[in-house]
Amino acid sequence: MAYQTIIEDDIDILVVGAGLGGTGAAFEARYWGKDKKIVIAEKANIHRSGAVAQGLYAINCYMGTRFGENKPEDHVRYARIDLMGMVREDLLFDMARHVDSTVHQFEEWGLPIMRNPKTGAYQREGRWQIMIHGESYKPIVAEAAKKSADKVYNRICVTHLLMDESRPNRVAGAIGFNVRTGNCHVFKAKAVIVAAGGASNIFKPRSVGEGAGRVWYAPWSSGSAYGLLIGAGAKMTQMENRIVLARFKDGYGPVGAYFLHLKTYTQNGYGEEYESKWWPQLQQMVGKEYLDPDSWHLTHRPIPTCLRNHALISEVNAGRGPIHMVTMEAFQDPHLEEIGWHNFLGMTVGQAVLWAATDVDPKNENPELTTSEPYVMGSHATGCGAWCSGPEDVSPPEYFWGYNRMTTVEGLFGAGDAVGGTPHAFSSGSFTEGRLAAKAACKYIDDGKAEGIRVSDEQINRRRAEIYKPLEHYRIYRNEITAGTVNPNYITPRQGLDRLQKLMDEYCGGVSTNYMTNEKLLNIGLKKLKYLEEDLEKLGAENIHELLRAWELKHRHLTSEAVMHHTLFRKETRWPGYYYRGDYLKLDDENWHVLTVSRRDPETGEYTMEKAPCYHLVED
Ligand SMILES: Cc1cc2nc3c(=O)[nH]c(=O)nc-3n(C[C@H](O)[C@H](O)[C@H](O)COP(=O)(O)OP(=O)(O)OC[C@H]3O[C@@H](n4cnc5c(N)ncnc54)[C@H](O)[C@@H]3O)c2cc1C
Repeated sequence: MAYQTIIEDDIDILVVGAGLGGTGAAFEARYWGKDKKIVIAEKANIHRSGAVAQGLYAINCYMGTRFGENKPEDHVRYARIDLMGMVREDLLFDMARHVDSTVHQFEEWGLPIMRNPKTGAYQREGRWQIMIHGESYKPIVAEAAKKSADKVYNRICVTHLLMDESRPNRVAGAIGFNVRTGNCHVFKAKAVIVAAGGASNIFKPRSVGEGAGRVWYAPWSSGSAYGLLIGAGAKMTQMENRIVLARFKDGYGPVGAYFLHLKTYTQNGYGEEYESKWWPQLQQMVGKEYLDPDSWHLTHRPIPTCLRNHALISEVNAGRGPIHMVTMEAFQDPHLEEIGWHNFLGMTVGQAVLWAATDVDPKNENPELTTSEPYVMGSHATGCGAWCSGPEDVSPPEYFWGYNRMTTVEGLFGAGDAVGGTPHAFSSGSFTEGRLAAKAACKYIDDGKAEGIRVSDEQINRRRAEIYKPLEHYRIYRNEITAGTVNPNYITPRQGLDRLQKLMDEYCGGVSTNYMTNEKLLNIGLKKLKYLEEDLEKLGAENIHELLRAWELKHRHLTSEAVMHHTLFRKETRWPGYYYRGDYLKLDDENWHVLTVSRRDPETGEYTMEKAPCYHLVED
């Protein structure tokens, strides 16, 4: 094949994926590594890439310590409650104690943050959220990363990490291809920070057919952070902890600003309050410790997000849907009406367009809400991702192996969605995690831990052949189509994605089964995933664009397999409203107040699962 192989050598720190985590990593790497060679490889264009591409309306993680608002410990408590206890408190605390400085930096770089005219403090939307004029959020942080890096390679889809051949379990760089030129790119590096984002489109979306393409998390978030790490044999944690979101129907428009700022609320189809009806039944499932409405007025503990989902799902199943967001009161105030629309224009413009196109005016009618299909990503309100070392001053021995945010593969670090056990980091927390990972990666190199790395031509050539196999496959068999796109010798990436989504949906607790699964279903799902893996060896890609889709699918498949194994391993229903184990419908703290950890053997593809202690380091 005519594509060139371009080798970038002697890199100190390679950042894979330049969303919020990756830009933070590049920026901080330059601070601690003045003379180091820092290179970014990004699938899209750093200027507008990642989950923040379209902009945001709020920064969801800011302590406000300088305004006397919250302490990092408060944030740990909050995330712990929301995640039904299952968090890595060392990592969360570490992020929370640094996140304010990140936000102050954003403001210095020109991000307009709204201020409360009376107090001068940032304008709060809720306890943790501050409001921004965030249309240019991503270009602003990208600029800092561009100035910090020696080189930014845009349009590179990284497909694999390269491994050191002189020492087992040590990273040596990465390899991928340019999605425009098709050239193969090899990056030989001493340390790699993976910040390639979460995974949408793993479960069959609600929007199919005419609405195909509409999803909540960014459609280009293809699970590469997980696929790359799992493929390299890194241990993963909490991969069962997918997220389901209550959002405006069909456009996935966010509801946070509506609840918090516009003070809107929800009702069932008969105009009734419904949530509290479900608390007694739910309390029997999860126990009083996690749901105690009688003491809410004393503790002010928030209701975990998954439990609110449970009430919504149950109410609809009871035949009293649809659920409405009551906007008609707030929207009579022209100022709030403007904020309501503006909220979408800043980050989910599609919702505003959909309402306009279908004649929904929230001033005159209350729009519908629904729960989304599940997503797999570790920086929003769930915490799947790599099992990483914590900081030396906070982490207990089981959580610490030398370098902050280093995975169980030496020299391989994570940030943002890539890191497990750290929900509620959001955009600012992901950038902060990138900073923490980069500081540690610089120290790792300075400590001489990356000496003597060797990558043979054989490894590079093997990976190169793998990368282009779908193009080769298509070239050989393209004339054997029997009808339409059906070819007995290959499957297209679209066909493979449909199969993956269907089986995750039906066997792993997607919308078709009302988020329900059990051991039997999961075992069938695992078997079908193995068959799909075999068939993915026969992917056919017509051109470079399809080659990108092929590799996105392979990363999604690796992610899905981990999700399925983890869901099978945790024999309880820890997060009703995210998913249900029908064979273990109760939360079981006696046996499952633990973090789940997996490893896929890169040679055999076999999984091993273990329990890790879930320490509560911050007092109640
Ligand atoms: C709809 C939505 C609303 C949100 N609302 C808010 C909010 O209001 N406030 C808030 O603070 N946060 C919000 N978030 C969360 C925030 O966007 C994420 O927490 C954050 O972007 C995660 O950072 P990340 O670096 O892990 O991933 P991303 O920012 O998604 O970055 C991943 C990067 O990796 C690149 N990449 C992917 N695969 C590859 C590959 N194979 N090779 C090379 N590069 C690759 C991508 O192109 C991308 O640039 C929202 C997210 C979404 C999707």
